[in-house]
Amino acid sequence: ISFVFSAFSVTYVVGTEASFPPFEYVEDGEFVGFDMDLIREIGEMYGFDVEIRDISFDSLIPSLMTGNIDIIAAGMTVTEEREKVVDFTIPYYSADQSIMVRKGEGTNLSILFTEPKIGVQTGTTGDLWVTENLIDTGYLPKANLTRYDTFNFAVRDLVNKNIDAIVLDNPVAERFTKTDPVEIVGIIKTNENYGMAVAPGNEDLLNMLNEGITKLQESGKMDELIGKYFK
Ligand code: GLN
Repeated sequence: ISFVFSAFSVTYVVGTEASFPPFEYVEDGEFVGFDMDLIREIGEMYGFDVEIRDISFDSLIPSLMTGNIDIIAAGMTVTEEREKVVDFTIPYYSADQSIMVRKGEGTNLSILFTEPKIGVQTGTTGDLWVTENLIDTGYLPKANLTRYDTFNFAVRDLVNKNIDAIVLDNPVAERFTKTDPVEIVGIIKTNENYGMAVAPGNEDLLNMLNEGITKLQESGKMDELIGKYFK
């Protein structure tokens, strides 16, 4: 019987970077999180299966372009640059950037006056902000910026004092303050909106995702998921 059904089922390969809690992370060997629930809910609504592929954040758009993945669900901010290459859904979450340091060092002002070593995830809007505002301006030497493939490595380096701060999306920083000895010392108002992305011209899939997001918002399911992951 399962053979009969599987002959009719469509699978979409969903690319993510699973060190971005509570949007996507690994728990008991499973990919879980807000984005993962979101895409699985939409899959249930429209009858497609979801196969999650965990790849580095800066490889997501190239993977979409080469057809290795069908959808990006990775807390990805809709930016003008990215919109030139991929098609984004309607926004489903908003965020700003934040500055995260080791717990207890938030009141240590010397971090502002000495040259802090900053960590970011490669290719993120946090990376972009630090590069444009601190490195390209000459405020910080290039060597003070470390780019990581995953936030898990960045947080480990922060806790181990290899770097002094991480610039990352505030909902994710909030989450790390609950699981690791870190704290938030500042918010950078970047007014970002997250969207899922598909390859350009993949209109049917885009429409389905947009309709799915809208239905989840209207039914209250979106709020339910927000309650599940952000309280
Ligand atoms: N929202 C940020 C961006 O789009 C970070 C996303 C992430 O690291 N998963 O660049």
